[in-house]
Amino acid sequence: MSFFGKKKSSKQDEKSSSSPIPSDEALGHNPDRNEHLFWYTEEGYIIAQDNTCQHEYVQMTPCPSCGGKLRVIAHLNRAGQGLSELVTVCQNCRYTVNFIFDISNDVYQQWWANQLGTLYIRQYDGPPREPISPD
Ligand SMILES: [Zn+2]
Repeated sequence: MSFFGKKKSSKQDEKSSSSPIPSDEALGHNPDRNEHLFWYTEEGYIIAQDNTCQHEYVQMTPCPSCGGKLRVIAHLNRAGQGLSELVTVCQNCRYTVNFIFDISNDVYQQWWANQLGTLYIRQYDGPPREPISPD
């Protein structure tokens, strides 16, 4: 038997992962990301279009205090608000920075629905937040 795609047939396979946050990392990358990725919403949230991009954003953001490297220490599930929050700490000076991502947008929700299949339930029932042009 074989299958295509990134979905795993069993969660057991992920036990050997050394990632500090396997549940997020394993869910991966959305091939349908568009140009709105990492734009801000009117409320100041960062547009996320999958889970991997949230970690990419953290990795490319230097510590605002010393310029050091940030590391994710917690993921706060705020899906009911259409949000995803990552708590990070600077590996150099221990400064903490929270990143709040918008996941109400259609690109994320469509990707998430594809990940979950019939298990998908839209947790945020408000309208998708609109990206604001960085120009
Ligand atoms: Zn720092």
